[in-house]
Amino acid sequence: MKQDYYEILGISKNATPAEIKKAYRQKAIEFHPDKNPGNKAAEEKFKKAAEAYEILSNENKKARYDQYGHAAFENGGGGGYSGGGMNMEDIFSQFGDIFGGGFGGGSFGGFGGGSRGRARVKGSNLRIRVKLNLEEIANGVEKKVKVRRKVMAEGATYKTCTTCNGAGQVMRVTNTILGRMQSASTCPTCHGAGEVLDKRPKNADSDGLELKEETVSIKIPAGVTEGVQLKVNGKGNAAPGNNAIDGDLIVVIEEIAHETLKREGTNLHFDLYINFSEAVLGISKNIDTVSGKVKIKIEPGTQSGKILRLRGKGLPSIDNYGNGDLLVHINVWTPQALSAEQEAFFETNKKDENFKPNPSKLDKSFFEKVKDMFS
Ligand SMILES: [Zn+2]
Repeated sequence: MKQDYYEILGISKNATPAEIKKAYRQKAIEFHPDKNPGNKAAEEKFKKAAEAYEILSNENKKARYDQYGHAAFENGGGGGYSGGGMNMEDIFSQFGDIFGGGFGGGSFGGFGGGSRGRARVKGSNLRIRVKLNLEEIANGVEKKVKVRRKVMAEGATYKTCTTCNGAGQVMRVTNTILGRMQSASTCPTCHGAGEVLDKRPKNADSDGLELKEETVSIKIPAGVTEGVQLKVNGKGNAAPGNNAIDGDLIVVIEEIAHETLKREGTNLHFDLYINFSEAVLGISKNIDTVSGKVKIKIEPGTQSGKILRLRGKGLPSIDNYGNGDLLVHINVWTPQALSAEQEAFFETNKKDENFKPNPSKLDKSFFEKVKDMFS
């Protein structure tokens, strides 16, 4: 059973926002990790108080909590916030609001009874665009791309930074309302890497890195859409130091428009034009699909505006929910120029019973068809 948020902060349910803030300040000071080094119980209370404040300081979250209790933030509660999930970075980043300047931003060192260990420095990400046609999107594809990325230059060596002794951070002692507080900031010499370049080869930059062109193979799953971003781990820029990890390569998908097929999610649309005689007499036609041509049969007496649905001939969904359909829109082309003979034919038949529009319930209107397509 989770402890009540009001109880954690030691306030009543009628507390005003100012009272909630004040109560949290007191708890945060009392249980601050820098005041209670190595004290797990204090750390727990510190986190709990932060969580309680996170909810109660927010009007919407507080209202939901007042109505549903902790259940409001459990799975399916639509909270967008899972209780108990606050980490120290989150907590300290709130402090600017609560204590004014001097807090927030930099992370605190020495927390949790031991060293947090230095954060591993990561190189920057690279972005490239990859153009795909519909056939490639339909089947998935492996693309080889050339990437110019920073890598460690051959012969470059690193040594421990003497400013921070390899910690990547330097400690600062400041006087605050909590009393003397220790805070850590990124080492100005090594920028957090804990190491500095020792031997710099001729072709290397001041970090010991050089630009190299590399061919990277990217597996693109079927069903991607314009703007989707895929990540290739470790194929971005390197960062200086033996301990650093390479950045990532971000691949942005661009879709090449198909000549005849229009994409709409996983469905594809094809506009088929047939002539008046073909509509009257019926005909077979070849249709483009992402897997080659397919023959379809147009029944005699087909109306303009009819939509034929070729199930599964659309695109796969990226979540493996199966393929969409190919929707063939039939457009009957009305002749715009006629010979004297043809004109006489149509003139004769103008009033003929067989030429009289007589839509049945099966001949749905355009709006009904659109409704059907999306239901
Ligand atoms: Zn340093």
